[in-house]
Amino acid sequence: MADDIDELFDLAVIGAGGAGTMAFLRGVLNYDRCVLFSGDARTRRKGRSTWVSHVDNIPGMHGLGHPIGKSTKCTLEWIEGQEGLRDRGTVIKAVVERLERSAEGFVCRYEDKRGSHAVRARFVVLATGCMDVQPQIGGSIKPVFPFPNRGDFIYCVRCDGHLTRGKELSVIGASDSAVSLGAMMADRYGHEGVAILENGLEGGLGEEARALASAYGMQLHASPIAKILGDPRDRGLEGFRLVDGTRVDTTCCIVSLGIIAYNSLLCDLGGEVDASGRAVVGEAGESSIPGLFVVGDLQSGRKMQVYTAWDEAVDSADEINARIRAERRGRRLGAAPGER
Ligand SMILES: Cc1cc2nc3c(=O)[nH]c(=O)nc-3n(C[C@H](O)[C@H](O)[C@H](O)COP(=O)(O)OP(=O)(O)OC[C@H]3O[C@@H](n4cnc5c(N)ncnc54)[C@H](O)[C@@H]3O)c2cc1C
Repeated sequence: MADDIDELFDLAVIGAGGAGTMAFLRGVLNYDRCVLFSGDARTRRKGRSTWVSHVDNIPGMHGLGHPIGKSTKCTLEWIEGQEGLRDRGTVIKAVVERLERSAEGFVCRYEDKRGSHAVRARFVVLATGCMDVQPQIGGSIKPVFPFPNRGDFIYCVRCDGHLTRGKELSVIGASDSAVSLGAMMADRYGHEGVAILENGLEGGLGEEARALASAYGMQLHASPIAKILGDPRDRGLEGFRLVDGTRVDTTCCIVSLGIIAYNSLLCDLGGEVDASGRAVVGEAGESSIPGLFVVGDLQSGRKMQVYTAWDEAVDSADEINARIRAERRGRRLGAAPGER
């Protein structure tokens, strides 16, 4: 039982998406004592990897449905099945509600139906991720939900941009980057007359973005979207009806509205974040809070991809292991010759 764990773990990993799974695996393989907080149904629903139904841009993942979720499941099962490794990793299926500093490192606090619990760890890898902001349509984000699984709505052009080929493209976004995306898609895949739907959002496009939009023959629509046209179970996305009555025909829509960063555990400790709320980190992903590493989508300035998340996770877990080993070696070297 989790509340019986009185041990000081070497490493606590918070979040079991692509990044957290890799940090946990690397920590276990490095033979550090690791605990993984894998969240609950609520946090998983809010995690990006849950919504990834296919991955086309990583060799070997083609044709696997929901490959990120599956890779977490099979990795945790593999560790559990390894004699001599399984005791290096403990999985707690709970949400860390609060992270505190302590003299020995950190305290992760969580709750379950038996009450409140605390787990101590020397280092923490935070991998709680982000979520893409969804467009409001008629005052709700729900009308969008049935469409993304078909590939009619796209949130990551690096992942799914190729799926737009041959489709009538639109972008929902009210910042200059929405127009840049439209131009990039025109240059890369030959899209003409991309519709930019500002969806009634404040902010507006700058002069340069307007000039770019004009050069590429984009249609700019400021009016809010009133309705999605089409049938997610059959024909798919066919267009949008705007509040001003305009019908915009489109069969594929890129959502470019920014992200929600799940950074509260870091921010509560006073950790530094960028303008989007993602963690500013130094070497090996260490945040401005010493000993607290941030990996995956929550790390500022990175590509927000599975393969970059994996690399960041390995860097952090290896750095943590290097510090632990350096301490051990220091103790040996510091010990009297007869005690070595
Ligand atoms: C539609 C879509 C398609 C994509 N396609 C691709 C693709 O083809 N290729 C690619 O490389 N990338 C793709 N990505 C990006 C990829 O999903 C992310 O880069 C990757 O999932 C990032 O992993 P992460 O671990 O940082 O975050 P997440 O996967 O979001 O995982 C965060 C985890 O943290 C948990 N959590 C949150 N808070 C807590 C807490 N307090 N305590 C415990 N647990 C917590 C959640 O349950 C969740 O499981 C896509 C993203 C989207 C949205």
